[in-house]
Amino acid sequence: MPAEEASAAIVLRARDYSESDRIVTLLTRDFGKLGGIAKGAKASRRRFERKLEPFSHAMLYFRRRPHGQLVFITRAEAAAELRPFNIDDDLAKIALGSYMLELADAMTSEGAEAEGAYRVLSEALGTISDAGASPALRQSFELKFLRWAGFGLEFARCRQCAAPPSEETAAYFVVSRGGIVCARCRPSVPEGALRMEGASVVALARLGEADLAEASSTGPAGADAALAISRFLSSVLDRKLRSTAFLDSVMAGNPRA
Ligand SMILES: [Zn+2]
Repeated sequence: MPAEEASAAIVLRARDYSESDRIVTLLTRDFGKLGGIAKGAKASRRRFERKLEPFSHAMLYFRRRPHGQLVFITRAEAAAELRPFNIDDDLAKIALGSYMLELADAMTSEGAEAEGAYRVLSEALGTISDAGASPALRQSFELKFLRWAGFGLEFARCRQCAAPPSEETAAYFVVSRGGIVCARCRPSVPEGALRMEGASVVALARLGEADLAEASSTGPAGADAALAISRFLSSVLDRKLRSTAFLDSVMAGNPRA
């Protein structure tokens, strides 16, 4: 029998399977994304002290099976250093948290290292638990997750001439360049671009650098910034995220920052 392995993990997706089992998708700290099956999970409070539901944060013990099948999850336990996330007491928190889980799922693949992704996601869900959902937290999470995935978007300087943005001057987001060009460079750039207010560009540059807790207590960049990030995400994702429409409907009426 293969050795038992263990890692801190966040449950991204879960569903019942047969009478008593659960099939889950996990983002683990040490082994990237994993699909697993927990036999008897619905009945055994002893082995599954932590329930296997989306947002569960636990120490997961598992055994691998040959040929890349679902791993056998043997236990799920609480651990002092793994804080439980408190998401389900507020609609905006559920909407933003669900979006974060889906984005993390879409941007990771099984078998690939993803410790940085686990860290960004756990910090983001911890911040929602403490501070609630906000558009600024969403934008900061998107920028940080994209950066982890190798798509560091540039809002702090022009991709062409490196000039920093100013609050007073519009800039132009070029999806294929993953960043802005300034108004002076715009005529020499052949690609299509999205016009953004200077204040939005400056706000995104700040949200990209701030830590998530700090970002959640500040104002978001404007709707033009949200559109720029969303266009970029569409260009790199192979699927449309189902949680986006719900999040947009909940968050639009909830500009708490
Ligand atoms: Zn420029």
